[in-house]
Amino acid sequence: MTTVVDRIGLLVTNAPELGDGPLGLRHDAAVVIDGAEVVAVEASGAVADRRIDADGACVIPGFVDSHTHLVFAGDRAGEFVERMAGRPYAAGGIATTVAATRAATTAELLATARARLHDAWRGGTTHVEIKSGYGLDVEEERRGLDVAAELTDDTTFLGAHLVPPDFAGRSDAYVDLVCTSMLERCAPVARWIDVFCEVGAFDADQARTVLRAGRAAGLGGRVHANQLRPGPGVRVAVESGAASADHCTHLTDADLDALAGSDTVATFLPIADFCTRQPYPPGRRAVDAGVSIALASNCNPGSSNSTSLPLAMALAVREMGLTIEEALLAATAGGARALRRADLGCLRPGARADLAILDAPSYTHLAYRPGMPVVAATLVGGELVWGDEGSRNY
Ligand SMILES: [Zn+2]
Repeated sequence: MTTVVDRIGLLVTNAPELGDGPLGLRHDAAVVIDGAEVVAVEASGAVADRRIDADGACVIPGFVDSHTHLVFAGDRAGEFVERMAGRPYAAGGIATTVAATRAATTAELLATARARLHDAWRGGTTHVEIKSGYGLDVEEERRGLDVAAELTDDTTFLGAHLVPPDFAGRSDAYVDLVCTSMLERCAPVARWIDVFCEVGAFDADQARTVLRAGRAAGLGGRVHANQLRPGPGVRVAVESGAASADHCTHLTDADLDALAGSDTVATFLPIADFCTRQPYPPGRRAVDAGVSIALASNCNPGSSNSTSLPLAMALAVREMGLTIEEALLAATAGGARALRRADLGCLRPGARADLAILDAPSYTHLAYRPGMPVVAATLVGGELVWGDEGSRNY
């Protein structure tokens, strides 16, 4: 079946060959979809089996959220309240979520993760990466990945999220477990491997060991790097050929040089910095240094309980010095690059038909109307997953 999203006032394709500027902008356009794929970008008035009338609104490629921890149980609102009252954030809070997640049934984990994915759709997100990392033993990590695999094909094994309490003081022994039986059990359902390289989590040598073992098992690398203070994480990510170094809140000039000369994307997670009262990442400096960047939500119960990429964009513009165009590109095409996905983050023929119809004439409203429900409808693989077909004519 073919579908046309017609009468688009302003279309962002992220395909410069299809329109103006780096966003590939088109006016009075239509996107023609066959099955789950974009097959053409045309002028308004295109014909198809089914017609969705954008009524002059702006349409963007769906957000590609390349960093989430959507599979978890419980919440840590109490920790947030304390932090807002002045207690500093420490990485150890993850253990609270590990206990709650281990205690939850698989059905509960899937239902709550699915609910979070539905929230993400409402914000215009059309693809999520999902990490494990709240199991921290062989079977629990596999269970988290099995749940994640129900919701996405970008699953990430994050056994090296934190040293669990039963391995306290024996982090090398835990790294051995991660790199042997845990990896063996998890690799068949994971595309990526990730490691939290931070004081209180894993050091540079341990991170290299984890990434090397993952690569040998066929998994691409990702690193939680330079979140709480300057450190070796970014350079470990670059040296290891990781697809992405995530957080990058504290970047030295040497870090920026390393990133700029590499294929590693710097993925900024400004909602986490917002929720933990951290400084914001140096987004402007990174772009000016030639670093390839992405914006993601880092949705998790401890430091960023949100899947809102419009909020991440607003923070990136207001607090990190990005232009609205740079922020939109980072949250769409940038996320796709961080996941090495050529089929996502753009609306050119051959791409997956993932898009958001805005309740606005321009994408600028995503940052200009912070906190407002700017996304009117969301299509994933050509299917309407958010938007009221009856009242809004979608
Ligand atoms: Zn994370």
